[in-house]
Amino acid sequence: MSPSDTRATDRPKGSTMSTTTSVSTCATTSCAFNHDGCHALAVTIGGSQGTASCGTFVTVDVRGGVAGDAGKVGACQRLECVHNTDLMCSADAITVGGDNALCETYQAR
Ligand code: SF4
Repeated sequence: MSPSDTRATDRPKGSTMSTTTSVSTCATTSCAFNHDGCHALAVTIGGSQGTASCGTFVTVDVRGGVAGDAGKVGACQRLECVHNTDLMCSADAITVGGDNALCETYQAR
């Protein structure tokens, strides 16, 4: 086995987390997925170092997403957040708000 093979086998294959994080509230009512809360099946949280924001946020002239109790965090790019494990959110729930759909649960390590 070459050194590069060893690195490949040691590489994590992904999170073993089995629960998803809910978007408990979203106050960004201009988002097309927001009608009485978030109805996106799985949002991606992005942003930049020090600021986490919802990458699924979109302002278009329709309201969409899925019916029922939706609003889950599918992935999170903010590795520096204390709740981030393997690019997933380990918080019980997050809140989103502001004009730019900030993740208000974000907490830098
Ligand atoms: S709380 Fe942290 S890990 Fe969870 S979605 Fe917000 S920024 Fe990402």
